[in-house]
Amino acid sequence: MCGIVGYIGKRDAFPILVEGLSALEYRGYDSAGVALVNNSGLSVFKDKGKVDHLKEITSDIENATGTKIGIAHTRWATHGAPSYANAHPHLDVNKRIALVHNGIIENYSILKEKLKKEGIEFLSETDSEVLAQLVGKYYDGDLSSAVRRALLEVEGTFGVAVIAFDNPGVIIGARRGSPLVVGVGDDEMLLASDASAIVQHTKKVIYLKDNNLIELKHGFFNTTTLDNRKINPEIHSLDWDANALAKDGFEHFMLKEIFEQPDTIRNAMRGRLLVDDGTARLDGLNLVLQELRAINRLIFVACGTSWHAALVGEYLIEELVGIPVEVEYASEFRYRNPIIDAHTLVFVISQSGETADTLAALREASRKGATVLGICNVVGSSIARETHGGVYLHAGPEIGVASTKAFTSQLTILSLLTLLLGRMRRISHSDGVTIARALEAVPKQVKKILKQNERIREIAGIYAKHNNFLYLGRSYNFPVALEGALKLKEISYVHAEGYPAAEMKHGPIALIDKDMPSVVLALKDSVYDKVLSNIQEVNARGGSVIAIANEGDREIEKYARHVIHIPKTLPLLSPLLSVIPLQLLAYHIAALRDCEIDQPRNLAKSVTVE
Ligand code: GLU
Repeated sequence: MCGIVGYIGKRDAFPILVEGLSALEYRGYDSAGVALVNNSGLSVFKDKGKVDHLKEITSDIENATGTKIGIAHTRWATHGAPSYANAHPHLDVNKRIALVHNGIIENYSILKEKLKKEGIEFLSETDSEVLAQLVGKYYDGDLSSAVRRALLEVEGTFGVAVIAFDNPGVIIGARRGSPLVVGVGDDEMLLASDASAIVQHTKKVIYLKDNNLIELKHGFFNTTTLDNRKINPEIHSLDWDANALAKDGFEHFMLKEIFEQPDTIRNAMRGRLLVDDGTARLDGLNLVLQELRAINRLIFVACGTSWHAALVGEYLIEELVGIPVEVEYASEFRYRNPIIDAHTLVFVISQSGETADTLAALREASRKGATVLGICNVVGSSIARETHGGVYLHAGPEIGVASTKAFTSQLTILSLLTLLLGRMRRISHSDGVTIARALEAVPKQVKKILKQNERIREIAGIYAKHNNFLYLGRSYNFPVALEGALKLKEISYVHAEGYPAAEMKHGPIALIDKDMPSVVLALKDSVYDKVLSNIQEVNARGGSVIAIANEGDREIEKYARHVIHIPKTLPLLSPLLSVIPLQLLAYHIAALRDCEIDQPRNLAKSVTVE
């Protein structure tokens, strides 16, 4: 969520900082700002609005150039509306330090009252300014000590970068709960809330750990814990190239990512799917087969789209592995008192690996002694580091705020997990081979669906002005209905509800009329006939139906106004295919409504606050 960039080196800091902010744009934000140290002290340029607006207001400011050190921020407001005053960087009252902050200072109001009594005047409504004032109060020429002292007083989460008016030679970064990555370049150092702002400059990175502080100087760094114990951090090499961050001729990252899915699904299974043995290997779980056999219950914990993937996981594992599965919202799990016994395995699922609620749930499950495994995309993320083991999606950076390729990669991993656990229990060798072969064929089938992009755009054109949609599915495709509705809500701001198709009768059917279309997943599986009846019920009330059906299904055309045909696969793998037209439908409706697809209003990519 939101972004931090810092630069210290031999080049002009300003353009590097602003470009870094642009690379973080996808995270979602409402304000942008930069602070630089130059001969006359600190210069701050900031405002509410986009990075482009920041570029406009700084286009003729000379002292924005020639400076070799600075920090920058894109804000996703938690405390105080988007405004000039609330935009970061924040200065202390004497304008001696500048600070950018991601996260939430939970005890800010107590600290603020205390500081006000000491005569400190506040300019913003943010929680972050409290931190800036505290650092300013303690600053006596030693910036890292001042930051350390200030951070000891705050509760909550933070990723911070701080500079001082009289020291063009140091940036201090520190974190607890909000990610910070350090880029180690040639005689230059970068700091960012994620690696997409760094990868253009260097591939050598350090993932700062919770409660660590880093001092960045010209060409060198020093890492300590907040209580000042020396640390020697590991330097990792980023495995993605800068091109992964370009749109490659697509109008939006979201569309590019939808079209990447044949590759990303293949990447998720590469080296893991063992077709001849009808099983999978997931070495990253760090559990031996005997340990996996002893598991008799699974809990999936996730939020948003990942939660929908987890629901598919529940259907898969209960059906094919035969052990009970619970799917929990991370935000609920963390504050409940969940039952976790010695044979329960907890899986946390998060694209970014930084989702605050999921991370907190992970920690709660660990405190209860559970073995917690992760399924995430971002290598080196907090979830990846804090889990006992796990599986990476290897989907490459997902920039569009509305998740697409991460979802299908999560489904792929969950299918592999089902094979692995299932082969130890209920899945025979020949059934395993059948599933593995079907999974292997999925990327090609996805490619085939993508060829219908133009047709789906036409259907979107017919419905783009409607303001309410119902998404219906059953069995494996019930979670897909939820996901399809979520995509539409997220990027087109159209009200959409996902329901198990039969459940419609118990309420939502009251909404159906000619202005409320239903998108129905009607694939040839065990519930096909039942879904056809549900379609009839919609028709009988004057609603129109867009059906997702299997190739060769002509019967459905009698009942549905529009049909999008997809290739046939095993019912258990059908979500991997059926979600693709729903992603495209949401995309085109949003595009036709002129919405900002890659950065929808109010949303952020990686939700690092509670
Ligand atoms: N809580 C801070 C604010 O509202 C930081 C938000 C962010 O992470 O961008 O300004």
